[in-house]
Amino acid sequence: MSRMRVDQELCILCGQCVEACPFNGVEIRDDAVVFTESCRLCRVCVKACPVSAIWLEKSEPVSTVDKEQYKGVLVFAEQRQGSVQPVTYELIGKGLELAGKLGEQVCVYLAGSNLSSQAEDLLYYGVDRVYLYDHPLLERFRIEPYTSLMVELIDQIKPNIILMGATPVGRSLAPRVAARLRTGLTADCTLLDVKPNGDLVQTRPAFGGDVMAQIVTPRHRPQMATVRYKVMPAAERISNPHGEVVRCPVDERFLQSGIEILGFKPHEAASSITDAEVIVAAGRGIGKPEGLELLGELAGLLGGVVGVTRPLVEQGWADYTQQIGMSGRTVRPKLYIACGISGAIQHVAGMRGSEVIFAINTDPHAPIFDTAHYGLVGDLYEIVPALIEAIKKGGSFDAVFQAG
Ligand SMILES: Cc1cc2nc3c(=O)[nH]c(=O)nc-3n(C[C@H](O)[C@H](O)[C@H](O)COP(=O)(O)OP(=O)(O)OC[C@H]3O[C@@H](n4cnc5c(N)ncnc54)[C@H](O)[C@@H]3O)c2cc1C
Repeated sequence: MSRMRVDQELCILCGQCVEACPFNGVEIRDDAVVFTESCRLCRVCVKACPVSAIWLEKSEPVSTVDKEQYKGVLVFAEQRQGSVQPVTYELIGKGLELAGKLGEQVCVYLAGSNLSSQAEDLLYYGVDRVYLYDHPLLERFRIEPYTSLMVELIDQIKPNIILMGATPVGRSLAPRVAARLRTGLTADCTLLDVKPNGDLVQTRPAFGGDVMAQIVTPRHRPQMATVRYKVMPAAERISNPHGEVVRCPVDERFLQSGIEILGFKPHEAASSITDAEVIVAAGRGIGKPEGLELLGELAGLLGGVVGVTRPLVEQGWADYTQQIGMSGRTVRPKLYIACGISGAIQHVAGMRGSEVIFAINTDPHAPIFDTAHYGLVGDLYEIVPALIEAIKKGGSFDAVFQAG
């Protein structure tokens, strides 16, 4: 295992490493610098040390598994009331890309009740095999059976990589499966790539979004990652599927559950910002909550919805479900209109996949203009009413915007 080392002869006990450590992982005890269990090996102390007395001693990872036994990608197909959730197609798209690089196969784990046609349909996204666990008691997501059956499948087919949606269901299932398999799991990946040796390179924001961390699981198999909805492009539907559906027997032992479901109440289908094709997004630049009504009018004219940055949620002006960004929703609309948004990395992380981005900001140096395809420097309270008026008169948005 890698660990931090100190040359106590060189060390002058200045305490700069203790001050610099963001995790309280360094202490001075009995006239010596010591690293505690909180140390994350981030090496901030190495840079802080004025006499170069600290270094990271790296040890080569020793693999405890025979990696050669693990091949291919397994995607968890999430279904709700018999409908396969769209994130599944995005995971299949990424799975096909990763498996293609290694010359391996993509399989799908689907559990539910009466899902034969959904399983057949998944073949049209280019996968090699859909493992179907079909049983009335699997109709709705129940954590114990879904975990046990997935672990049983993984034990049998030994996939190298497992992809799941970072949805409430995926976030609940993935850690349980990873714990049973005693393997690594990286949550909320924004990029995935694979090395020729099969190691999955999992990229995700870290340290509040200031750093994009690359995480690998070099000593364990399988490698597990969750990915948020709308972060990756979906697999294309094909006309000549080549794969097969494998109907798996459901062992009654695995259907046992300590959780008794007393009733079931479907969640009201709120108009989701994640699925909107047009988003008019409001930032702190709106200055007052009434600004949301103005942007709502523009969104209404364009058949879209209003999204917000985090400060507006913190102010209580908007609901959390409207927040776009690293700690909110990830969106990929056809049109994204950023109004009074500076373009902080944590916000951009959630909207940079939008097809066309327009930005309105009074500050010509606002970082949002680096992300936007089109920008207008000016006061949103002048520009947006003018846009609304022009659209009402029959102009299309882009014609009106570009004329502006
Ligand atoms: C761990 C962590 C997670 C985070 N997650 C998120 C997240 O998910 N989503 C998110 O949005 N943020 C998130 N943040 C916050 C993020 O860092 C920024 O603080 C936030 O995005 C800034 O929001 P803003 O652009 O609305 O405000 P500001 O940065 O204050 O920008 C306001 C902009 O409005 C412009 N402006 C002012 N008046 C006008 C006007 N009349 N007309 C036009 N333009 C005007 C200004 O020039 C300025 O550029 C997170 C932060 C952390 C630390």
